[in-house]
Amino acid sequence: MSASFTHTALGQRVVFGVGAARADLAAEVDRLGATRVLLVAGQAELDLARGLAGPLGDRVVATADDVRRHVPVECAEAARAAAREHRADLVLSVGGGSTTGTAKAVALTERLPVLAVPTTYAGSEMTNVWGLTDAGRKTTGVDDAVAPRTVVYDPELTVGLPPALSAASALNAMAHCVEAVWAPGANPVTDLVAYEGVAALRRGLPGVLADGADLAARSDVLLGAWLSGSAFAQAGSGLHHKTCHVLGGAYDLPHAELHAVVLPHVLAFQLPALGARAERLRAALDPGGSSPDAAAALAGLEDDLGVPAGLRDIGLAEADVAEAAALVADVVADRRIPNPRPVARADVAALVRAAWAGRPGTPPTGGAG
Ligand code: NAD
Repeated sequence: MSASFTHTALGQRVVFGVGAARADLAAEVDRLGATRVLLVAGQAELDLARGLAGPLGDRVVATADDVRRHVPVECAEAARAAAREHRADLVLSVGGGSTTGTAKAVALTERLPVLAVPTTYAGSEMTNVWGLTDAGRKTTGVDDAVAPRTVVYDPELTVGLPPALSAASALNAMAHCVEAVWAPGANPVTDLVAYEGVAALRRGLPGVLADGADLAARSDVLLGAWLSGSAFAQAGSGLHHKTCHVLGGAYDLPHAELHAVVLPHVLAFQLPALGARAERLRAALDPGGSSPDAAAALAGLEDDLGVPAGLRDIGLAEADVAEAAALVADVVADRRIPNPRPVARADVAALVRAAWAGRPGTPPTGGAG
């Protein structure tokens, strides 16, 4: 083959298994040589986190529980101050992407290792990307110090994720995998990881929705989440993630649902330029072979899962559609995001308008419903 590429593996240890959080957490903390642990968990996950950290006893020297979406700087500062005041030597996070993000914010300035125990499918625990929000403006950056040193994946912890959140969060993972197929840093390793991630998510999702306590299905989806974060960490973001970043930041739309709504549209736009990758995606998304293409297979899966269909269903007013499209088009043009096919302003306008209306194929006009 004649391709040229760069692949940098982050130094991370992954422990995966039903019951792993209860069985292995203390040993993993030992392995990192930590004696003074800052526990980071949002209010909703605090009891779970305290239970898991129980075996650590008084090695948990402080808790940071002000966890909010998009990591406002004041939450990051509070967690950092706790780490400094109590001379923490490890940040242990238990929760979704917002919690992992708060732990990463501490690692960024305090240079402490992070042990992450994810309870959603966001995938942030596998990346070296941090994000902070100051007065409504989100800033992101890359620093290897924020990549968790150890990640403990335990499907049991996701049993409490309600069906709607399970589906949306898994489709956020799906977006990491699908975009990894065309993102700027894609390489033969991320390809393998991304298609396998799509297949694992596709395999597990129906079972998770049918019975949230189905641990085999939960394991498949969590495996997919791990693979999605790994692929995303290497391949980086492209048109899909940039679109979601702009829309989410400007209109405060729910992160996971936003990814679910936008992804089939971006995929449909990219398909003509994907060549053999289009068929590999279709096969992973539709093992039964009943869909004409990958975008239709994804849209059909989303229909089955009952995730919101359009941006109008998750809080974007019709009056904001033109402005939203202009904001996305500006970022796409400014950053010159590498893409399998050229993206004109008119393409972005059509994409955002279509995503507002519903799944690909939905007539573009209609009430603001
Ligand atoms: P989240 O962490 O905000 O969690 C969403 C909701 O789920 C919260 O209300 C939380 O309390 C609840 N929850 C979490 N685990 C639960 C469980 N097991 N049972 C019941 N409820 C539970 O959202 P998220 O979707 O996990 O993460 C989104 C955030 O992660 C975004 O801010 C996004 O930017 C970030 N992210 C960052 C990266 C990165 O590489 N830096 C990658 C992916 C996502």
